[in-house]
Amino acid sequence: MAEQLTLGDDGAGGGAAAYLPRSRDLAHLRRAAEHCRGCDLWEPATQVVFGEGPRDARMVLVGEQPGDHEDLEGAPFVGPAGRVLDDALEAAGIDRSTVYVTNAVKHFRFEPRGKRRLHKTPSRTEVVACVPWLSAELTAVEPELLVLMGAVAAQALLGPRFSVTRQRGVVPDAPDGRTTVATVHPSSILRAPPELRDEQLAAFVDDLRLAARLLS
Ligand code: SF4
Repeated sequence: MAEQLTLGDDGAGGGAAAYLPRSRDLAHLRRAAEHCRGCDLWEPATQVVFGEGPRDARMVLVGEQPGDHEDLEGAPFVGPAGRVLDDALEAAGIDRSTVYVTNAVKHFRFEPRGKRRLHKTPSRTEVVACVPWLSAELTAVEPELLVLMGAVAAQALLGPRFSVTRQRGVVPDAPDGRTTVATVHPSSILRAPPELRDEQLAAFVDDLRLAARLLS
């Protein structure tokens, strides 16, 4: 069984928990997250990128963190990885407007390189610091099913030893007994060698189809 990080964990060094509002509906959470200083990622980032989607969504998709486009636009999955996700959702017969899409970490972690900002994977400390926001989103939305996309999202909720490569698919003993599917992050498909992209996209679509079947 995966080592689980309890939802609602306060995180390392206090983290985001100190910034959670008294009212935990999505609108209050979103506004409060703008002022979060639960780790150092807020400072170089343009803005917080909170989750988006219906508050009664049956499915929540969780990614890693906002990328360059998301940081500038303030919305999740609007860049190249978002386009892969949109195509995959459509191929799987899932209407994106019916799902809630968010990230494990709400600020963009990057390394400046000239005029470019290169993605950097958030540290475990940063992921744990940010978990209270994801926990609060899940409590507010109460989805029936979670899709965890990539190692950071999966390890945020299932513990640092969880391996998407080894444990891809339906996760037994998921937090709160919620049906949970672990899969890759759509950006991994963009980074794959060109000759492997179609195959990896097909496998990602298969995972989303599985999630849709589990809901139906
Ligand atoms: S990454 Fe998360 S914990 Fe860190 S400042 Fe942003 S919202 Fe707060």
